[in-house]
Amino acid sequence: MRFYSIPMRTSYRGLQRRQGVLFQGPAGWGEFSPFAGYGPRESARWLAAAMEAAQGSWPPRRRDWIPVNVTIPAVPPAQAHAMTKASGCRTAKVKVAERGQCDADDIARVEAVRAALGSAGRVRIDVNGAWDVDHARRMIRDLSRFDLEYVEQPCGTLEELAHVRRMVDVPIAADESIRRAEDPLRVRAAGAADIVVLKAQPLGGVMMALRVAEACGLPAVVSSAVETSVGLAAGLALAAALPDLPYACGLATLALLEGDVVDDPLLPVGGQIQVRRPDLDEETFRPYEIESPAWRRRTAEAQALLDAPPMSKAVLQ
Ligand SMILES: [Mg+2]
Repeated sequence: MRFYSIPMRTSYRGLQRRQGVLFQGPAGWGEFSPFAGYGPRESARWLAAAMEAAQGSWPPRRRDWIPVNVTIPAVPPAQAHAMTKASGCRTAKVKVAERGQCDADDIARVEAVRAALGSAGRVRIDVNGAWDVDHARRMIRDLSRFDLEYVEQPCGTLEELAHVRRMVDVPIAADESIRRAEDPLRVRAAGAADIVVLKAQPLGGVMMALRVAEACGLPAVVSSAVETSVGLAAGLALAAALPDLPYACGLATLALLEGDVVDDPLLPVGGQIQVRRPDLDEETFRPYEIESPAWRRRTAEAQALLDAPPMSKAVLQ
């Protein structure tokens, strides 16, 4: 068991550093990095994903390259334009509804990104649940002139999402509404979304996420939980195994971290990331390695609640 702490280049979910645990097993390295605020019961699913990576197996891949989106934070239009151009991606996800900004800021940013991509590119927005139903309807209608691919989590609750979805023509994606394996089925049952955003770690691993996607039946976009390349490899494995992958995935998040733990990081090339599984590199890892009684305790607490076969002693050392 090894612990890492890597500074964030851009603060994400209020985090200044990303921290987690890396395990080595017979199958390779696995990552356990639940966000702060996730208790042992939720964290157990994250641990199951790490176990699967270290000592289980991933499903066969159907593709070798995964198209990914660039994520444009709530920056001014000129910067949004430049970031989109520089990314090499054909799909951009634009963050909107930032605290302290107004609708005109969002509209200007989306317009700049659309201009940078041209008409062939795809533009989606991510609201992170910040709008109420009326605000969502108004903004989605206003922004539809920029030909939105979909709107991610316009409102907080399933009821609100379902309400907005009935009022607009743009597809709705559920992200924050999905934290556990049961959630995609609830999203579908509520008529709350056209697309589900799936993450391998919180759903309990690649096999479990694949089963969830199949049971849910809605198109899936695979996203990361802002992991190192060890954790991102599981997201790539999931995206590679899905029967259909109609949308670019949110796996281009490594640049949010100041460093990594492998020497051939999972970064996009021409808007795609190659499906592979880099090994931990001791020299690259060294500056970020920490000892952490707190993470040791979190791991033990999650382990105690894991309803899968216990992780072998060798892996937990
Ligand atoms: Mg999102």
